[in-house]
Amino acid sequence: MRRYRVLIVGAGFAGAEAAWHLARAGVEVGLLTQSLDSVMMPFLPPKPPFPQGSLLERAYDPEDERVWAFHARAKYLLEAEARLHLFQATATGLLLEGERVVGVRTWEGPPAWGERVVLAVGSFLGARLYLGEVEEEAGRLSEASYPDLFEDLKALGFRFLDKEGEVPETPTTPGYRVRYHAFHPEEWEEGTFRLKGLAGLHAVGLCVREGDYARMSQEGKRLAQYLLHELG
Ligand code: FAD
Repeated sequence: MRRYRVLIVGAGFAGAEAAWHLARAGVEVGLLTQSLDSVMMPFLPPKPPFPQGSLLERAYDPEDERVWAFHARAKYLLEAEARLHLFQATATGLLLEGERVVGVRTWEGPPAWGERVVLAVGSFLGARLYLGEVEEEAGRLSEASYPDLFEDLKALGFRFLDKEGEVPETPTTPGYRVRYHAFHPEEWEEGTFRLKGLAGLHAVGLCVREGDYARMSQEGKRLAQYLLHELG
């Protein structure tokens, strides 16, 4: 059984940034995400300024603002890190030993284990997408949002706020809205990234606070520094 020092769920702007910094600092990181085709995939092209020394800054190319090309560069940089294991799986619930979180169950079957578990699931907790008359369970266009993890967290007693984000119409994509949930501010400790109630569980990114790509990436960097200190 492989047990990462840090297991991060969600390779979006916050989770991928945190994983990259931890791996570069020598920590064995598992970065589990529901689709390798959407690793660090923007809704719209990211615009500088970006946090200095960030993965976001490194993956940005002012000569090429295509969102999928940005995603491909970020994925390449993540996969080039020897201590970072990026893999495809969908987390469906937390694995507990007493009051401590030790990993996640996955839809695919094999569980994933970590000394610290980080939820970086963005706009995917109980998400619904609205496009004209169409409504579907999705955290972004063409990306399904499965209910299991959200239901499991609710069953464990976590409280959430209703949130909404909007993507304007562009020449290549239709405009749409996403309604999702974020942890209630009383469920986590600002600055520590820890979720209260269960040991070993952290959260970062849009599932705890709003912000643009640069902010999410900055939060991912801060989480990495916090965990490096905590792990010693
Ligand atoms: P994300 O980047 O969404 O990453 C979350 C990742 O977790 C995804 O890859 C997802 O597949 C994965 N995941 C989710 N659930 C699971 C699971 N159970 N198991 C495994 N993997 C899972 N900011 C901007 O600067 N510009 C914009 O144009 C912009 N548009 C936005 C539009 C909408 C509709 C919303 C909701 C937000 C927008 N934001 C925008 C704000 C924010 O910066 C982005 O949403 C940003 O992507 C959030 O980063 P994140 O890491 O928290 O989540």
